[in-house]
Amino acid sequence: MAAIEMKNIVKQYGDGFPAVNDVSIDVADGEFLILVGPSGCGKSTLLRMIVGLEDITSGDMIIGGKKVNDLAPRDRNLSMVFQNYALYPHLTVYENIAFPLRLAGASDSEVDKKVREASSTLELDEHLERKPGNLSGGQRQRVAMGRAIVRNAEAFLFDEPLSNLDAKLRGQMRTEIARLQKRLGITTVYVTHDQTEAMTLGDRVAVLKRGVLQQLATPRELYENP
Ligand code: ADP
Ligand code: ADP
Repeated sequence: MAAIEMKNIVKQYGDGFPAVNDVSIDVADGEFLILVGPSGCGKSTLLRMIVGLEDITSGDMIIGGKKVNDLAPRDRNLSMVFQNYALYPHLTVYENIAFPLRLAGASDSEVDKKVREASSTLELDEHLERKPGNLSGGQRQRVAMGRAIVRNAEAFLFDEPLSNLDAKLRGQMRTEIARLQKRLGITTVYVTHDQTEAMTLGDRVAVLKRGVLQQLATPRELYENP
């Protein structure tokens, strides 16, 4: 069963050209899917419809076998990793990772167990008492992913998470995200306008143009058949 099924998804803002026009994509369990295309092609809109931050004009969004068209973001069990990582600067790494568990009313011992598991997976054990301001960009990204892991999210969603970084750090983070995604085996949808990212990060690449799905293929297939 696909983790995320987009079935004939349309988004129409006002009465112009549809921002997303009849897009159907199945994202397999554990797959890393890249959404790529030029500015304005509809990738953020599509991602926001997966998360539930944007209503769908027509079509069906199915997550974990369940139709979620009318579900609020909080009920979709997804985890969005934003460009600025959305960490709380006044909280330690430990409390940043623990935050969703505290919100959900978990006991201290449960919080501790999950935070330690996540920080071990993400190699953050040494940094649990630090504040985000003292971390590198890569470490901050891992804290954001830690917060996603403890929530047992069905999937990670990334919206151009690296676009504010310099070229060197961007390259490092790319490698790191790809490695973590494989280690965690969690279904991931990643939006970028960067061709290099698209061709190096994912299992498959969905190319959008003016809201229409142009190609859906592995990087190798795209490379051999552009
Ligand atoms: P991308 O992420 O690929 O840059 P977007 O999904 O942001 O593209 O936008 C796709 C199209 O939808 C663009 O033409 C954009 O101007 C339009 N659009 C995006 N958000 C809105 C909105 N809230 N209201 C009206 N039009 C929008
Ligand atoms: P609100 O102010 O609407 O209560 P919160 O930030 O407290 O918003 O989040 C409420 C719920 O929304 C969270 O428990 C979570 O399920 C969901 N949520 C918040 N941020 C994200 C995110 N980045 N990705 C996915 N779901 C989120």
